[in-house]
Amino acid sequence: MAAIIDGKKISAQIRDEVKQKVQSLSESGIKVTLAVILVGSDPASQVYVRNKKRACEYCGIISREILLPEETTQEKLISKVEELNADPSVNGILVQLPVPRQIDPDAVIRAISPLKDVDGFHPQNVGALSIGLPCFLPCTPSGIIELLRRSGIRAEGKECVIVGRSNIVGKPMAMLMLRENATVTVAHSKTASLQEVTKRADILITAVGKPKLFTKDYIKQGAAVIDCGMDRDENGKLCGDVDFDDVFDTAGSITPVPGGVGPMTVAMLMKNCADAVDLQRK
Ligand code: NAP
Repeated sequence: MAAIIDGKKISAQIRDEVKQKVQSLSESGIKVTLAVILVGSDPASQVYVRNKKRACEYCGIISREILLPEETTQEKLISKVEELNADPSVNGILVQLPVPRQIDPDAVIRAISPLKDVDGFHPQNVGALSIGLPCFLPCTPSGIIELLRRSGIRAEGKECVIVGRSNIVGKPMAMLMLRENATVTVAHSKTASLQEVTKRADILITAVGKPKLFTKDYIKQGAAVIDCGMDRDENGKLCGDVDFDDVFDTAGSITPVPGGVGPMTVAMLMKNCADAVDLQRK
């Protein structure tokens, strides 16, 4: 029987730590502000933005919401970003993705000042992460590191297999697990014999987006299984990339979906906003 890695509980601890930090900054006259830009009215994006706003309220972070119409041009969006870059009262800037088709998301990410890039997506932060310099860490992978640390799962010397190589999860995850001194393998859709690869993992991290792809046949006995997936099963119910019930007796520990990795992402965003103040002061 696997131990459950409780992302709700751990993310609440992190939010409380951020709240304390924001409170002590406020006592020295420093306010923390996150600017969130949402272009258009994608319902899922609206939910994400609302969740971020709520988390800001809890932590005492000022949240500035900028809502732009669906037809906003790339130039207009970038000029809004530049305005926020130049505003000293703004510590963090986030453009909610995806953006409408007429806008190149990479151009927008590049326009955000690396010192205010609390999502950690700017190429300068990505480069800094890969060579071990201080930088903003992308929130989902850094949340997973916190889940492992706070659950007492040591990565040093362990075989870690990450399935998925996206810029927001898989690749930065690999960099962070290397920093933790794990031996890292990154698998993807072209990996041959995926089961053989994942069965080597002491720590398996899945970021694929395929509901319940990973059954017990993919899992080494006693492995820590971290499921980033936010997928829908055949009944439209939220589930992960891992077939939780099937894997439960094989894994040593496991994150549920929901309640595992998901809540960590917003908590780490709050942490990045509070840490932005230190980075900007330096
Ligand atoms: P993505 O950009 O679509 O990347 C998916 C990755 O999975 C790709 O590298 C792809 O390989 C690989 N893949 C697809 N099918 C595969 C298969 N059958 N076997 C092995 N590898 C396969 O996805 P993402 O943005 O990283 O997100 C992945 C999942 O995490 C999604 O469910 C997403 O909703 C979730 N997510 C959750 C959070 C959170 O806060 N909890 C945050 C971000 C993402 P190729 O590169 O070869 O195509």
